[in-house]
Amino acid sequence: MDLHDQGLKDNSKAMYEAKFLRSIRHANSGGSVFVCGRVSAEMYKKCVYRVDIKLDQLGVVEECQCECAAGMGPEPYCKHVGLVLYALTKAKDGIITKETRTQTLQTFHQAKKYNGSPVKIKNMIFHSSNSPMVNLKEYDPRPEDLHNIPGYKDYFRSIWLNSSVTSPAICQLYSPANVYGINNDHDYLIASPKELFLQNISVTKVTEEERIKVELRSRDYKTNDALDNLSSVQFEPQIKT
Ligand SMILES: [Zn+2]
Repeated sequence: MDLHDQGLKDNSKAMYEAKFLRSIRHANSGGSVFVCGRVSAEMYKKCVYRVDIKLDQLGVVEECQCECAAGMGPEPYCKHVGLVLYALTKAKDGIITKETRTQTLQTFHQAKKYNGSPVKIKNMIFHSSNSPMVNLKEYDPRPEDLHNIPGYKDYFRSIWLNSSVTSPAICQLYSPANVYGINNDHDYLIASPKELFLQNISVTKVTEEERIKVELRSRDYKTNDALDNLSSVQFEPQIKT
C-alpha cells in the first residue's frame, strides 16, 4: 500500500469484521494473481460492488478497480479495495464472509427460550375457577389476629431506620426523605443546614485566609510555604445560645 501512497483505513477493517465481504476468489494467469471480491455497499442494502485486484508474483498490487463511485481507474483506493486486501491477509486463518442462509442449521424443532417474567399469585389468570390454586390468591400466611395492626407500617419503618445496619436492602422500598424538611426539623442551629453547608464550601462567606489559599492553589504553586502555614478550616455547626 505504501507503493501507492496509501494506508489501511479503519473502516475497511470494521467492515470486514462486520461481514461485508460476500465472496472472494482468485485465479493465476501469466505469473499474476487475479483476485475478485464482492463487497456489500454500506448504505444500500442490496447493492454489491465487485472489486478486482491484480497482484504480481511478490504480492505487490499492480492494478485494482471497484464498481463504486470512488473505485474508478487503475489505482483507486476505496474502502472496498482496502477490505478485500485486508481479507487476503487473513487467508491463513480463514477469511470471514457474509453468512449464507444455510450456514447455520435450522432450529424449528428445538425448544425456544422462555422469556416470561414471574407473576404475583394474585395477578395469575387461571383457566378453570375450580383449580385449587384459586384459593391461594388471597392467602396471607400471618395469623388472623396479626392482620392490619394499626401503626404497624410506622413501627416497621422505625425498626430498620434505627438499626445499626447501613443502607439495608429494605430501604429501597421507601421513598427518600424530604430534604427541605430537614431545615424545619433542626431549627435550633444558628443557620439552616443548607446555609451552613454553603458557608463551609466558601460560597456565601469567604475569609481572607481562605481567599489567599484558593488564589495560591489556582496559580499552581507547588512548593509554597504559605499554603502549608495556613491552618485548615474546619466545619462545626454552632448551636444557638
Ligand atoms: Zn469501492
